[in-house]
Amino acid sequence: MSKLEDFLNAQEEQEIVDAIHIAEKNTSGEIRVHIEHKLHSDIKKRTIELFHKLKMDNTKLQNGVLIYFAIDDKVFSIYGDKGINDVVGLDFWNSTKDIMASHFKKGEFKSGIVNGILKTGEQLQKYFPYQSKDIDELSNEISKG
Ligand code: CA
Ligand code: CA
Repeated sequence: MSKLEDFLNAQEEQEIVDAIHIAEKNTSGEIRVHIEHKLHSDIKKRTIELFHKLKMDNTKLQNGVLIYFAIDDKVFSIYGDKGINDVVGLDFWNSTKDIMASHFKKGEFKSGIVNGILKTGEQLQKYFPYQSKDIDELSNEISKG
C-alpha cells in the first residue's frame, strides 16, 4: 500500500494549497481537500461524514465545498453545503467532475485536484462573490486519513 505522503510530494501538496488560496480569492466559498486510502462505505455517505467532521458545515453562508479522494480506490467526489445546493442546479458540479476525471484517468492526480479546485472557485464566484474583509473560515491545508 502506498503511503499518503507518497501520493503527493511536498511540492504537489503546496500546489494544491496554493490553488485553494487562489480559488478563495474569487469567492467567499471555502474549499477543502481530504484524501485517504480506502473508501469503506458509500462515497456520498463518507463525503458528508467528513464534511461534518471537518466542521465544514459551520460557514456563515453555508458555502463550503469538500473535494474527497480515496487514493487506493481511485474514486472521488465533491460535496457542497446547503447554501450552494439551494442556488445551483443538480448538474452544477458535473463539469468540474469531468475535468478531474479526465486528469485522474491519465494518472495526473495533483493536476486533477488543482484543476477541480480552480474550477470550483470559478463556479462559486457567480453565486458567492469574494467580499472585502473575507475571513478564511476553513483551513486551506489538505486533510488526511
Ligand atoms: Ca473565505
Ligand atoms: Ca479556506
